[in-house]
Amino acid sequence: MKENTEECTGFKALYLAALDSNVSLITGVPGYPINSLMKLFLDKTSRERVVKSRTEILRADHSDKIRISAYSARWLTNEKVAFEIALGASISGKRALVIVKHVGMNILADPLITSVTHTIGAGLVIIVGDDPGAKGSQNEQDSRWYGRIAEIAVFDPNDPDTAYRALRRAYELSEKTKTPIMLRVTQSFGKSGGKIKRLPRSSAIPPKFDRSIWKSRMAVKHQLFHSRVYPLLEAEAENTDMNRTILMPEEETEYNLGSRRIGIISSGFTSSIVEKILKKRDIYCEISHLSLNIVNPLPIRKIGTFLRNNRILLVAEESEPFIEEQIRIAGRVCGKKTGHLPYGQVMPEDIEFALEHIDEEEVSKFTDTAFSKLSTEGRGIICNNCPYLPLYYFLSTINVWIAGDMGCSVRSASEPLAAVDVSFALGSAISVACGFEKKGIAVIGDFALAHSGILGLLNAVTFGCDMLVLILQNDVAAMTGGQEAPDIRKVVETITPDVSVFNIDEGKGIEKIETEKEIGYKTKEQILNPVLSELIQTKLALPGISVIYLKGKCRKYGSVAKNSE
Ligand code: SF4
Repeated sequence: MKENTEECTGFKALYLAALDSNVSLITGVPGYPINSLMKLFLDKTSRERVVKSRTEILRADHSDKIRISAYSARWLTNEKVAFEIALGASISGKRALVIVKHVGMNILADPLITSVTHTIGAGLVIIVGDDPGAKGSQNEQDSRWYGRIAEIAVFDPNDPDTAYRALRRAYELSEKTKTPIMLRVTQSFGKSGGKIKRLPRSSAIPPKFDRSIWKSRMAVKHQLFHSRVYPLLEAEAENTDMNRTILMPEEETEYNLGSRRIGIISSGFTSSIVEKILKKRDIYCEISHLSLNIVNPLPIRKIGTFLRNNRILLVAEESEPFIEEQIRIAGRVCGKKTGHLPYGQVMPEDIEFALEHIDEEEVSKFTDTAFSKLSTEGRGIICNNCPYLPLYYFLSTINVWIAGDMGCSVRSASEPLAAVDVSFALGSAISVACGFEKKGIAVIGDFALAHSGILGLLNAVTFGCDMLVLILQNDVAAMTGGQEAPDIRKVVETITPDVSVFNIDEGKGIEKIETEKEIGYKTKEQILNPVLSELIQTKLALPGISVIYLKGKCRKYGSVAKNSE
């Protein structure tokens, strides 16, 4: 029989696995690096293909050629909401997928952790995009730790075929254990290419939620979880062929036994890098490799055997020493903690460096001084022709604390603008400003306001905080690629007594939308908008809370219509 194989990227493999798993609902929140994965689900041509295929299914004689099922996919503004909608789908017997970036895990962690002992219905998987190297993120967080705290299985696939099989298996495992499953990806994995072998489309009828769990109290449910469910996850990690060992050739084993046997344990995309390096077997003939695609629970027995067979172990993983920290007590283990590899992204040359220095207990290549040269490299900056430049320039001249947010305003924090002082998380500006000793300013984008900033505003109004809130309304999530930002001005006007609107593009100070070149020739004083500056000063002098909506058109993403991926 002809094999159904195809060449695709890591993200396309996940897309196909979701279709073949009969996923009904996909929810997500935009962000780097998962936008291009969600785009596959939102793509109009795919949807047309879905509708056409449903018609074909009715006519066909149950042919396996027809693989595509109907689904609904949507961007949302908040990860907790995205996950909760998915929970609702799961409870009613529909398989669901949630796609978020790593910081999104912090937001959805609350319902996730409870859902594990609460139990769910149909399969529910979270695909989380980590950003080792922080190329498009505010931090370099490792989502695999959420597997530990939530006590869920975490897949960390290394190539498209493993990712396809991992997602297919994740839905089965989720339904068997009645828990959500996490699958971690990175940008490098998403772009990686390879052949996948597609399996027959799932014929399973997804289960609905079983109400009988309410017979037990929560402490009992947690005990039951540990005696009945977690062992299933541990058995999966120990027995899956996705966690595989590639031993050194037999004759090399004999030769090196007890002297210089080296093993590498890796997970995720780093495993593909290790595999490529080890293909140079003439140089690295003495090295065995344990490639882990399920990293929580860790397959401790499998790792124990691997440890016993190797004198020195190198753990190669992105972003944090997640595996390394759990096993380093067991023997001579090198990795990030010993300075052999950098934190964050791991490149092929880093692994080769680590192998060259494997006999040293500690190395110091990745020290403070080595990285200080890179401290500002690749940092995002405000566009030269951004409509909000007059605002940022003015903010840099006044002497009050200014809380920025995780939209473009965070890019105004560093020199030469030095406008906002702090920026902690998406939607945080208003609550942070609420804590300032004296009246300060919160600068927040419209997407961040809808994400969670509105809760901060509600609190600020309820408790009578003293502050000026500047809402940058450009109708798009400019920081994450120009996705639509909802307009919740009516809600803001309902809860806040003093709301003004200032159109930064029309008339008052800036007569027309200027080109990047025109802006580039202006001095700081020429860019300042006196009308806007005066309005801010006036509102700052008032007691209580004031809101100014600053309407402007993002020069990079323009209107939503052409960017509504
Ligand atoms: S992306 Fe848009 S909103 Fe952000 S700095 Fe550039 S022009 Fe301004």
